[in-house]
Amino acid sequence: MADLPVYTDPDPTGAELLATHPHLRMDATCGLMLEGVALNAIADAVGTPCWVLGGGTLKRRLARMRAAMRDAGLDVGIHYAVKANDHLAVLDLIGREGYGADIVSGGELARTQKAAIAPARIVFSGVGKTDAELEQAIGLGIGQINVESAEELAIISAIATRMGRTARVTLRVNPDVDAKTHAKITTGLAANKFGIPFDNALGLYARASSLPGVQALGFSTHIGSQILTTGPYRAAYARVAELVRAARQAGLDVSTVDCGGGLGISYRTEPEGQPEALAGAIKAELGDLGVRLAIEPGRWPIGPAGVLLSSVILRKEAGMDVPFVITDAAMNDLARPSMYDAWHGIVPLAPHAPGQAVAATHVVGPVCESGDTFARDRLLPPLARGERIAILDTGAYGSVMSSTYNSRPLAAEVLVEDGTWQVIRPRQAVKELWQDEIIPTHATEQA
Ligand SMILES: *Cc1c(COP(=O)(O)O)cnc(C)c1O
Repeated sequence: MADLPVYTDPDPTGAELLATHPHLRMDATCGLMLEGVALNAIADAVGTPCWVLGGGTLKRRLARMRAAMRDAGLDVGIHYAVKANDHLAVLDLIGREGYGADIVSGGELARTQKAAIAPARIVFSGVGKTDAELEQAIGLGIGQINVESAEELAIISAIATRMGRTARVTLRVNPDVDAKTHAKITTGLAANKFGIPFDNALGLYARASSLPGVQALGFSTHIGSQILTTGPYRAAYARVAELVRAARQAGLDVSTVDCGGGLGISYRTEPEGQPEALAGAIKAELGDLGVRLAIEPGRWPIGPAGVLLSSVILRKEAGMDVPFVITDAAMNDLARPSMYDAWHGIVPLAPHAPGQAVAATHVVGPVCESGDTFARDRLLPPLARGERIAILDTGAYGSVMSSTYNSRPLAAEVLVEDGTWQVIRPRQAVKELWQDEIIPTHATEQA
């Protein structure tokens, strides 16, 4: 595993983290509250580890994105990126609030249908859509398929023609722009597997415009995730605008540009990406093209809305330079620290005085991997056995990436809405871990 990144500025204090997370508040009696609900009350009832998602926060953040686009005078469809958090309760909320969905698999498509999101509001991205997934999408008549290669375009044309249908497509262009984000989440460089090389895009668009079974709508792009500044967006959109103009010059119709997702949030001290600035970048580069626009945000609306609650199993201090706090949440629950070296804020649930003494602490899970580390040398109050913490900003790429590694059941999930809370997935029972496993019958026993 790569070493955790070394930051040169001091970690934010608990109070500083709460200041950047307005849906969280420390109550002098009840401890940490999320959208007005005491997280201790949830942990008392449901146990830990437990994911808690603030539905009000998700709605407010989506509404801010919508308002930012509207205030810039832009007509931008918002397609929530389902992979960030695909829980049916989330998709139900997305659908009720009138947003669309960006999907990357047939499973996600099925979830959107279970949540009654209209097929017309669904966009299908991904480098390797199977024939079965394409048949499912084309059969439902989804709004748009973002095509990632010349090879895929030919497959879509053949499948749609065989089905007697027309697939609406954009070409996902790889603008060869460095999003200046973590290597594992950048997607817009020529060396990445994603999208059609910029230099091939115009020729392929001309082909798409004349292929049977296909209606060519325009172009899409998505350059990566956790992008905090508008520079990479502007560079990518400028290249896409160049393509739109060239296509029209060549007499081809272009009605749509899909601007992708990737807007970043504040995990530590970095200022979060601003939807208003994103709207400005879209307007500056694409605003005068007279095209239908769309964005595909995942992390930005839902990441900050979620926390992972965990309890301290024990504090391992004897003989240690820095004490280890061993929690009942682990890398199988929240994979981001082990997978991307991600920094997540950690706040104790118990009410504590703002000036309380803190000391360097390693926070780790019990899984048999050194990578099962949530934080190293984190300045925290002295957390004793049984005390609880909230790991912040886990609403996106949190529960969806969980596994049952080490035969650890999937954690419970809770949704907070309008000042009350509900379990939206009970903790997995241990016996469910093997319910689909089959022990083969052995010939000797059958005899
Ligand atoms: C992952 C992904 C998104 C969402 O990215 P975020 O960083 O979560 O906003 C949007 N579009 C595509 C094509 C993706 O693969």
